[in-house]
Amino acid sequence: MPRRHLIIGGGTAGMNAIRTIREEETERSTITLVSAEKPYSRMVLPYYLDRSIAESHVFTATARVLADWGVTTHLGKHATALDTKVNACTLDDGTTVEYDDCLIATGSSAVRAPVPGADGPGVHSFWTLDQARGVLAQIRPGSHVVMVGAGFIAFTILNSILSLGAKLTIVEVAPRILPRMIDDTGAGLVQTWLEKNGVAVRTGAKLTRIDEVKGRRRLKMAAGGDLVADVVIMATGIRTNLAWLNGSEVKINQGVVVDDRLRSSVPNVYAAGDVAEGRDLISQANAVHAIEPTAQEHGRIVGANMAGKDVRYRGSLIINIVEVCHLDVASFGAWDDAKAETMSGVKADRPAYRKLLWRGDRLTGAIILGPSTDIWTTNDVGMLKGLVQSGVSLGAWKAYLKKNPFDIKPAFIATKTTSSLLPETILGRPSKAPGESPVAV
Ligand SMILES: Cc1cc2nc3c(=O)[nH]c(=O)nc-3n(C[C@H](O)[C@H](O)[C@H](O)COP(=O)(O)OP(=O)(O)OC[C@H]3O[C@@H](n4cnc5c(N)ncnc54)[C@H](O)[C@@H]3O)c2cc1C
Repeated sequence: MPRRHLIIGGGTAGMNAIRTIREEETERSTITLVSAEKPYSRMVLPYYLDRSIAESHVFTATARVLADWGVTTHLGKHATALDTKVNACTLDDGTTVEYDDCLIATGSSAVRAPVPGADGPGVHSFWTLDQARGVLAQIRPGSHVVMVGAGFIAFTILNSILSLGAKLTIVEVAPRILPRMIDDTGAGLVQTWLEKNGVAVRTGAKLTRIDEVKGRRRLKMAAGGDLVADVVIMATGIRTNLAWLNGSEVKINQGVVVDDRLRSSVPNVYAAGDVAEGRDLISQANAVHAIEPTAQEHGRIVGANMAGKDVRYRGSLIINIVEVCHLDVASFGAWDDAKAETMSGVKADRPAYRKLLWRGDRLTGAIILGPSTDIWTTNDVGMLKGLVQSGVSLGAWKAYLKKNPFDIKPAFIATKTTSSLLPETILGRPSKAPGESPVAV
């Protein structure tokens, strides 16, 4: 069994792999972690931005904890090449680390709109802790923040920006907000809700350049008038961190192509998280999901397989959930499947919306939105996710849901969805208390 494990990337996928190796191995192995940043969770950065958690709380493992886990670290270092013929990874300081098996978990980086001025002062991305520090240092009560891009990541930080007392304008080049998370109807309801809550939204709005004018930013728009901002945040997409693998034997498509054990085309090289192109639970085709639950699950599966187990992954479910100004917005699975049978219901005054997508009598995707204060919104988010994830056959309940898309509970209970999901664990064994093993990250 491999004795020297190399983990490249100390984010969610990498840290879950380390934890799982230590939980699952029968003999103590050597683990080396190479990571450009110290281990922390990007997903909690919005709470750091609104100051509801201290900076120390974003980290998932301190130097002391890593030492206790017996992990040798190269932190602040980039992997620059992987030679799979001799099983060695080169770092940017010239160090070479040899391995018996390795995990590529280098995540993604933010990409800015390719316009003049995008890299100027006062223009930020919000993906890393360093970038979060930069935004936090510049936003003051009354600042005008312009968010370029209205995708999922932009929406994870809207509440934080507003809670800092800033005025917010969102510009989106697509004809609607959240173009990769919800459909036209949902996007229209969310946009109206944001506007009622004092957020200005411009869709179909193309940014052409950013200039500095007397210490502020002027955003030149192709149409509809320019904008002046104190702080610009570019939430215009992400790109996988895979350029360092150019020339290696590892097969890359949109991400590192992996099999159902999360092995790449090179058998002793695994990939996990944002960089991995693994199986999608609903379509069973390979896809890059770039979401936290996928990174966690991938990390657990890879860790177990690196520790000598043989664990198959059944695929990851697309889960997008955000809460904006107390409106819950979520989509699951194949929510945009043009070939699926669909049914929907809208209550524009609340606002509330449900869209259910079917293949036969199974729910394969769903969109839901509603006020967070309505208890059934929160409950239905969980139940719809469960129905899509379990793939239960809904039989006669399909007709019931068609008539009553706002009454999910009877169908959820009658089909015993909870009992079909409860025995399921990622590693195929009952959960166990952390004990001596590293705690969850
Ligand atoms: C503000 C924000 C909010 C988010 N909210 C959510 C949410 O609510 N729900 C959700 O599902 N997802 C959310 N995400 C996305 C989620 O954080 C990512 O999907 C997740 O972090 C992916 O984990 P990962 O381990 O694959 O990569 P990462 O967490 O990005 O970790 C990659 C690690 O690799 C390191 N690295 C990169 N290149 C190299 C190299 N060449 N050599 C060595 N190390 C390298 C990086 O420094 C980093 O430590 C959010 C992201 C952000 C930024």
